[in-house]
This record gives sequence, structure tokens and C-alpha cells, in this order.
Amino acid sequence: MRVPHLPAPGETLLATGFTTGPGGKGCNAAVAAARLGGAVSLVARLGDDDNGRSGPPFWQAEGIDSSHCRTAAGEPNAVAQILVADGGENCISVFRGAGFALRSDDVHAAEPAFVQARVVGMPLEIQDEAVFAALQIARRHGATTVLNPAPARRLPDTWWPLIDVLTPNALEARQLCGLALDAPATLPELGAALLTRGCGAVVMTDGARGAWVFERDQPPLHVPPFTVMTVDTVGAGDAFNGALMVALGESRPLAQAALFANAAAALSTTLHGAAAAMPRRHEVDALAALQLPSTP
Ligand code: ADP
Repeated sequence: MRVPHLPAPGETLLATGFTTGPGGKGCNAAVAAARLGGAVSLVARLGDDDNGRSGPPFWQAEGIDSSHCRTAAGEPNAVAQILVADGGENCISVFRGAGFALRSDDVHAAEPAFVQARVVGMPLEIQDEAVFAALQIARRHGATTVLNPAPARRLPDTWWPLIDVLTPNALEARQLCGLALDAPATLPELGAALLTRGCGAVVMTDGARGAWVFERDQPPLHVPPFTVMTVDTVGAGDAFNGALMVALGESRPLAQAALFANAAAALSTTLHGAAAAMPRRHEVDALAALQLPSTP
């Protein structure tokens, strides 16, 4: 729902708009990646209701392989309720539903999808055992792993060496470092602290300020944002992740991949909605070209 401002406790607001659409971090990133030219397979656990049943036809229309998605008999699908204020601020409550119960068995059953994959990405809207299984299977098949630690929770020690690229936003980075929200720490300090845990690289998003790339033995690199007419930032991080994965699959260096992802994420904020707001390849290439160093 679009609202004039975010409601205070007890306040009843009249919404100025209402839409429903597909979402969830994995779904949004998959749609972003598919629209940017990636060949995408989605592994998910769906509810046995209208929301769950609406997924596969939508993904099919986006060219996404959903043959590894399973329906959980009798369970409700995950659903999120999102309020977007006129200024672009949002507040979200998520019911995790059937999706959160994705287990390692479900991931192992989807192993054929990993065999050809150059990149495997995952958010944390699933069980730890499913994340760990995905990291292990991806590593076995030589894919680059991209872990979006959202919603943030403690990452088990065994995961860190299996994560090639960790993609927290600035808030999640603080949470992963175990810091209070007001504890003094710069983003380069957070990036350096996360690198010491053992992942290959950290690409940290910072909203309208763009992103940072942290790689071992390299100085921190700020990737400047693209200035756009932002109306709704829901799904911006997912657009960033989907685009980053496509660029990594195309063997682009991390800094270039982050620039491409910045452009895709910026464009996703110019439309309302989550998955539906993901931009197309020609739009992202055109915007990204404005910041790419010109070739002599
Ligand atoms: P999340 O959506 O996970 O909270 P961020 O708020 O950090 O993540 O946004 C992810 C990315 O989206 C940023 O790194 C940036 O590329 C892009 N982005 C977000 N907000 C804006 C904005 N107002 N203008 C341009 N780009 C934006």
C-alpha cells in the first residue's frame, strides 16, 4: 500500500494505492538476474495457496526455471505486507510461511540445477541447513557463491570459507559484526572486519550512497551511486544481488560487477513494486555506461 506517511502506533491511515505482486528476496533477485540475461533456476518451497500457486506461471513468463520449486501440502505461502510512504520510506512485516522451512533435503534434491551454474546466490529467508547445503553443493560444482545475509543473523563459522562474495547492506554489516546500531564504525572498518572472518570478498550496499567493494590485500573501493528519480526502494538490495550475480557469471571483475549492480538497483527504485520493478538489460547497460571508464 502507498500511504502519505508511515503510520504511528494506533493510527489508521487512508492508503492512496494498493497492489499485490510476487516477491521474496530469492524471487526478486532471480527476476532481476533473468531480466539482465542470466539463465536462472530458482529453488524454493511454496505454499499450497493462491500466493504459492501464482509463483511458477510468473517465473515461467520471466524465463526462470522453477522445476526445482516444491509445493508444501496444506501450508500457507510466505507473504510480506509493505507500506511505502510518499517520501519513499517503507516498513515491512514478513510472514515466512512455507518458504522458511526449505531444508537441506530440498536443496540436495535440486542438485541438477547447480551442475551448470556459474553463480549460486541465496538470501537468509531459509533455514541454516538449507544455506549450508547450497554453499557446499555450489562449491563442489565450482560455482561462485553469493550470500546476501538478509535478514541478518549470526553466520556459522563453517559457512565463511564457502562464501565467495558476501553482500550485506550497511545495517546488516553492523549486525553481522555484532555492533550496536549507534556504535561508531565506518563502512571500511565493517568491511575489513567481515573479511577477516574468511569470506572471499564483501560487497556492501549503502542505499542512495552506492556500494563498497572490499577484497583481501586491496584498498576499500567506493562504487558511486547513480542518481535517479526514486519512488520506492523495496527490492533494491535484491536487484543489486541479481545483477551482481549476472555480472560475476560473465566473469566481470568485482568492481565492474558492483557498478553494474548499482545501476540495476538504482533503476529498480524508479518503479513501484518488488520483482515487477526489476529493470531490463538495455536500461542497465545504458545507465552503467555513464560511469564506465571510456576505452581509448
Ligand atoms: P537494501 O535494499 O538491501 O536495504 P540498500 O538500501 O543498501 O539495500 O540499497 C541497495 C542498492 O540499491 C544500493 O547499493 C544502490 O545501488 C541502490 N539504491 C538504493 N537506494 C537508492 C537511491 N535512492 N538512489 C540510487 N540507488 C539506490
